[in-house]
Amino acid sequence: MIPFNKPYLTGLELSNIQEAHANGHLSGDGPFTKKCHAWLRENTGAARALLTHSCTAALEMSAMLLNLAPGDEVIMPSFTFVSTANAFVLRGAIPVFVDIRTDTLNIDERLIEAAITPKTKAICVVHYAGVSCEMDQIMAIARRHGLAIVEDAAQGIMSKYRGKPLGTIGDLGALSFHETKNIISGEGGALLCRDDEFSERAEILREKGTNRSRFFRGQVDKYTWVDLGSSFLPGEVTAAFLAAQMERADDITAKRLSIWSTYHDWAAEHEAAGRVRRPIIPEHCDHNAHMYYLLMPSPEVRTHFIEGMKAKGIGCVFHYIPLHSSPGGIQYGRAHGVLNTTDDVSDRLVRLPLWIGIEPYMDNIIHAADSLLRS
Ligand SMILES: *Cc1c(COP(=O)(O)O)cnc(C)c1O
Repeated sequence: MIPFNKPYLTGLELSNIQEAHANGHLSGDGPFTKKCHAWLRENTGAARALLTHSCTAALEMSAMLLNLAPGDEVIMPSFTFVSTANAFVLRGAIPVFVDIRTDTLNIDERLIEAAITPKTKAICVVHYAGVSCEMDQIMAIARRHGLAIVEDAAQGIMSKYRGKPLGTIGDLGALSFHETKNIISGEGGALLCRDDEFSERAEILREKGTNRSRFFRGQVDKYTWVDLGSSFLPGEVTAAFLAAQMERADDITAKRLSIWSTYHDWAAEHEAAGRVRRPIIPEHCDHNAHMYYLLMPSPEVRTHFIEGMKAKGIGCVFHYIPLHSSPGGIQYGRAHGVLNTTDDVSDRLVRLPLWIGIEPYMDNIIHAADSLLRS
């Protein structure tokens, strides 16, 4: 059986975890968390990077930092994971779903402006498959209307838009280190603050609404409850694991890109014959090979393909069930216009397995996929 995903171990994780224990500091914000913060600042250029227990948590912090109130609206794609919307719904805000581009499957920036109302406070973009949204245009819209931008960069670590790391272009960025992402710690995430506007308050929200971080820096002589907050920080075991992965981030990305290219080269002939559509990477985007997907000609062909691969012991999956037509989306959000591309793509997309260590099985996978596409 070739699973759809298999978490990668660099080999440095376990000794890091032992060291975390030897440090006598297993709760959050110890030496390994600091190491991860430094890595994130150096590799993204964000003014402040804070580890969280998930990307979901970082998105929830973003909604708090923007002071979203009941009835406020946040424009976002429907073709995304539930956390993109739920983080804002928890503050009483209303997700307003707009359609995606047919090429990158990212939010269609040409549809954003028409979805803006007097209640719109923010745009939450999602960099699907680690390929950037059209940030220049989106930033210009946000400036014209005084809106904040949150980047759901859950899939975007090591990816760039015109040379800028994803998650640092808008006001706030959220990364994920979930085991299905490129750089992992089981569960894990980070909030990136582009500049210092939000960083001090972000520290407070993350530490249960206290000024504990300022206390440890000697900036206040006792710490106390000062704001909203929750426990958003991961423990040191998680950070120790993550630090090992970060150390190998270049190597991880290179290996994933190589597997991605193997699929992409193979699928070219099938695309030319009209049997599939391959991912499209705009020239100004450096992607991180988070995902390899194919668009099948119809939902029936997709089902046939996934079932056929499963019968050969190869795990392939699809996503997303669009948010605008799911029970949560109907209750808490609304669609702006018709979301034809979202509906169409979610019916036809299939993801192929992509993980480090899969290389010896690639011939098998491609042979299996090839015969299914020709049948
Ligand atoms: C994975 C993912 C999330 C959630 O990340 P967690 O770290 O599991 O909370 C949110 N948004 C997108 C687009 C994702 O792919």
